[in-house]
Amino acid sequence: MLCPKCGNEMPKGILGGRGYNFFLPEGETYPKLLSDRILKKKHAVLLPPDIYGSWDVNGWPSAFWCKECKMVIADYSHLMK
Ligand SMILES: [Zn+2]
Repeated sequence: MLCPKCGNEMPKGILGGRGYNFFLPEGETYPKLLSDRILKKKHAVLLPPDIYGSWDVNGWPSAFWCKECKMVIADYSHLMK
């Protein structure tokens, strides 16, 4: 994967965390409370794994990191239908 900003090769890994991550479109206010219902109302995209997380790296998105631009690209295509 080549970085869309600088064009350098981006090493592959996973994007880990504690789960319950979401994409919130620009213009939506950040919710005071987090629930699936509230996030859906704000047109957020819930990203796997869920709040219980996963110890199996196959449950996390593949990710590519540009150390120059400090930018990550995550691929959820194998986790979402
Ligand atoms: Zn870059």
